[in-house]
Amino acid sequence: MKIEITTDQDEHECDDCGQAWAEGGRVVVDGEEVINKPGEAACYDGKDYSPADLLVMALDKLGHSVTVDGSRYHITCVDEDYHGVSPQD
Ligand SMILES: [Zn+2]
Repeated sequence: MKIEITTDQDEHECDDCGQAWAEGGRVVVDGEEVINKPGEAACYDGKDYSPADLLVMALDKLGHSVTVDGSRYHITCVDEDYHGVSPQD
């Protein structure tokens, strides 16, 4: 299995909050895109995924659960696909 992660960055500038920065990216497994989560910088509710987050989300989507010290790997940014909830909940 070949897993390719491509990251992207997004910036958001706001007079009130200053500069925001976010990272996201795509995960391609054996030539097929499994995850496409661009980073979205924003004052609130931005989307920010590290390469490790993206990898875990891809594995999860393929049916491989990842735990850390017995707990499900924690992705700090709420993700519908990973957490199974809409961000509004
Ligand atoms: Zn702002």
